[in-house]
Amino acid sequence: MSEVKYSELDGLPPEALIPEHFAISKSTGIKVDWADGAQSDFKLEFLRERCPCAHCTGAHGTPPQAPDFSNPLHVYRERLKIDRVEPVGQYAISIHWNDGHKMGIYSYQLLRMLHEELATKNS
Ligand SMILES: [Zn+2]
Repeated sequence: MSEVKYSELDGLPPEALIPEHFAISKSTGIKVDWADGAQSDFKLEFLRERCPCAHCTGAHGTPPQAPDFSNPLHVYRERLKIDRVEPVGQYAISIHWNDGHKMGIYSYQLLRMLHEELATKNS
């Protein structure tokens, strides 16, 4: 979570980094159809845990702050949801979470890497 490694993307065709379609469900997650035919189904928690913003990754020299979904003191909190998703140029989307995080820029590279991570886990 601290450092993003893109080596998993080596050897993929250029289409693998082009999302053709996003299906966004604010309460369940984001599905992506990639130009090379691959399909991703990202759950909310999965994406939130990988929030690439400086706060979550510790880029400002502070320790990384992983969201804690298991802490019983937090169970009364509002369920994790997406407030909105905005395109960032031609290369990324930014996800605004209902917990206030909105600086996470999910580049297509990052999303594709997360896809590979899921694919590896499920195989
Ligand atoms: Zn964050």
